[in-house]
Amino acid sequence: MNESILTANYKNTPYWWEKTPRPIIKEIDLPEETEVAVIGSGYTGLCTAIQTSRNGLDTVVLDAQDAGWGGSSRNGGQVSTSLKPSFQELSRKYGEERARELLKEGINALKWIGDFIQEEKIDCDFKRSGRFYGAHSQSQFKQLEKRIREQPEGLEMDVDLISKSQQHTEIGSDFYHGGIVHPYHASLDPARFHRGLLERALTGGTQIKTKCAVKKIEKKGEVFLLQTEAGTITARQVVVATSGYTGAATPWHRRRVIPIGSYIIATESLEEGLVDELIPKDRVISDTRKLVVYYRASPDRKRILFGGRVSLNETDPEKSVKPLHIQLTKIFPQLAETKISHSWMGFVGYTFDHMPHTGNQDGVHYSMGYCGSGVSLSSYFGTKLGQRLAGLTEGNTVLTDIKFQTRPFYSGNPWFLAPSILYYRLLDRYLR
Ligand SMILES: Cc1cc2nc3c(=O)[nH]c(=O)nc-3n(C[C@H](O)[C@H](O)[C@H](O)COP(=O)(O)OP(=O)(O)OC[C@H]3O[C@@H](n4cnc5c(N)ncnc54)[C@H](O)[C@@H]3O)c2cc1C
Repeated sequence: MNESILTANYKNTPYWWEKTPRPIIKEIDLPEETEVAVIGSGYTGLCTAIQTSRNGLDTVVLDAQDAGWGGSSRNGGQVSTSLKPSFQELSRKYGEERARELLKEGINALKWIGDFIQEEKIDCDFKRSGRFYGAHSQSQFKQLEKRIREQPEGLEMDVDLISKSQQHTEIGSDFYHGGIVHPYHASLDPARFHRGLLERALTGGTQIKTKCAVKKIEKKGEVFLLQTEAGTITARQVVVATSGYTGAATPWHRRRVIPIGSYIIATESLEEGLVDELIPKDRVISDTRKLVVYYRASPDRKRILFGGRVSLNETDPEKSVKPLHIQLTKIFPQLAETKISHSWMGFVGYTFDHMPHTGNQDGVHYSMGYCGSGVSLSSYFGTKLGQRLAGLTEGNTVLTDIKFQTRPFYSGNPWFLAPSILYYRLLDRYLR
């Protein structure tokens, strides 16, 4: 690796942890019993716990690491409408009415998260910055044009078409063939958002036990016994909120979630005015390639944070610096000499049908598999799950009707990932 790309104080931990160091929570003994035990202390687990504890249910959140150690303190902080499948795909599977209801949940989540952050007064740099979605080829631009023209009835959204000649108003780059702007998409500081949730969960009465991996869940009569690293806890209700970090303790869920590493670099502080040239309107940005890249300015508008998938197999974040830097400078040649101060990775929870899933399997509740768009979805569906546990009808969602599929011979190790990435790489290169 070319050492000169790295700053002298380079770190392979998330840039976000500079402003929000890993939380230190008062150590507690593992309670013997609780009404609700939540496994995982990311956005899903904490949003569930906020609801259950505020509604009077004794709640304990358990995490194998420290609080929010998973995707929730490592992500790109881009907030979108989130559901990946198109109306046509979902209609073929579930019929038009159900497809509309499902996609509406993504739109609801995007609106809800802004309202929630405002109501809860969470200080996390939330901003409706809008998204520029770049077309990486002329034919992709035509596809985007068609997509805007043919928005399904009842799901129309404000979207602006940006031609190549207008592109510099959105991005200081000639890389794209135009694109579209989703004005309602947003950005936030993910670790500060997580910190806000953590404070509200604790204030609401949730107990949080970190460094306490759950090893096994057993049903015994009306209750569940959770065997953990710190002993056994009995719970009336169990919630699995482990998404991309789902492991052997919950084999049913593990067979349904595909953990895929996503990698991010942060540049050093850029010279004054450069970020204004590169991302003038402070948009979050992604593009039409199958192998997604996603990037934005840091909330203080001094750096660029650039994420994507650069290797066939999982790799060390330090090894991903160079290929990510190459991708970054293809879009922004202005950054050819810019050094990288942080590089990190985390696991995104994908699913076979590209949909998030929430529901109840053999009495164990779950919400997971947000397919890389979990900032709004995990908080929204985590909240809804907590509301359902508290007996509130606003927790109902059409998502619980959707079957959480697996595939034969899949037990949690995505052996098919490298060939799939290679295939997508070829599509991006040759099918333009
Ligand atoms: C690098 C990266 C970039 C991303 N960028 C974006 C983005 O820009 N926009 C977006 O919308 N989404 C993004 N995502 C996805 C988003 O971060 C996740 O969907 C979201 O954080 C999931 O939250 P969660 O609470 O469900 O799971 P997580 O935050 O991943 O938390 C799961 C927790 O479960 C714990 N756990 C696992 N097993 C056990 C066990 N047996 N016992 C106890 N605890 C256990 C883990 O330690 C972990 O803390 C990104 C993800 C990554 C990794």
